[in-house]
Amino acid sequence: MISIAIANQKGGVGKTTSAINLATAFAASGWRTLLIDLDPQGNASTGVGVSAASREMSSYDLLLGDAPLGDCVMQTTIPGLSLVPATVDLSGAEVELVSITDRTHRLRRALSSAQNAYEICFIDCPPSLGLLTLNALTAADTVLVPLQCEFFALEGLSQLLQTVERVQQRFNSELGIIGVALTMFDRRNRLTDQVSDDVRSCLGKLVFNTEIPRNVRLSEAPSHGLPALIYDQHCTGSRAYLALARELISRLPENRKAA
Ligand code: ADP
Ligand code: MG
Repeated sequence: MISIAIANQKGGVGKTTSAINLATAFAASGWRTLLIDLDPQGNASTGVGVSAASREMSSYDLLLGDAPLGDCVMQTTIPGLSLVPATVDLSGAEVELVSITDRTHRLRRALSSAQNAYEICFIDCPPSLGLLTLNALTAADTVLVPLQCEFFALEGLSQLLQTVERVQQRFNSELGIIGVALTMFDRRNRLTDQVSDDVRSCLGKLVFNTEIPRNVRLSEAPSHGLPALIYDQHCTGSRAYLALARELISRLPENRKAA
C-alpha cells in the first residue's frame, strides 16, 4: 500500500475535495482504495456519502482507542472505496494525544497491520500542523499539497515544507512530497495566471501540470453525499481530478503502480 497525506495548514484550499475525488478516481480504476478522514469536521466522510449518524468506529478509535484498522473501516457506496470516518470525538484528539508517549506514531502503527488490504490510501488532514497532521505525515509515504491559486498562495508553504522536513528527520525518513496541486484555478482571472506562474517558477517540477479549475459542481457534490466524479463525471472539475489522478500515478514509484 502507498499512503498519501493531503496536507496544507490553510483551510479551504481544496484538501478534502482533492482527497475525495482522487480516492474516487483510483477506486474507479480498480485500485483497492482507503480514505482516512483525519479532520474533526468530517467533511471527507460526508462527501463520500457516510452520514454522521452512520459512523461508528472512527479515526479517533484508530488513534486513541488502539482499535485495529479493520474495525474502523466502513464500505462506502462507491465500489472499491473504503473509509475510516471522522467523528466529533476527533476534535479532542489533539489534546489527548499530547500526553501519550508515541503520540506521533499512532496512525503509522495502525496502518502497518493493513499494508496488504489496500493498494492506496489517502489521508485527509485537518487545517493545522498539529498532532493529527503529524500523525498523517509520520504514517504516509508521501505528501500531496493542494495550493489555492490566490495572492497569498505561497505564504505558509515554507512552514509546511519545514514541518515535512522535520518529520523526515525525526519520525519518517522515507517521507517524500509527490507534488503540489493548484486548485480553484479561474481562467477568467488574470491574477490566477500570475499566481500559477509564480508558484511554478518557485517550485518547478514539484507542481503538477494539471490545474483544478474553480467549478461549482465540485462544491455542489458534497451536499448530495457524492464525489463530484460520480455526481457529474463530465464537469470540468471531475475531468481535472481524473487528469490529476493520472499524473499522480505517473509519479508513483514503478513498483507501486498497481492497478
Ligand atoms: P479544505 O479541505 O482544504 O478545507 P475543501 O476541499 O473543503 O478545502 O474546499 C473548501 C470549499 O471550497 C468547499 O466548500 C469546497 O466544496 C469548495 N471547493 C473546493 N475546491 C473547489 C473548486 N475547485 N471549485 C469550486 N469550489 C471548490
Ligand atoms: Mg478539509
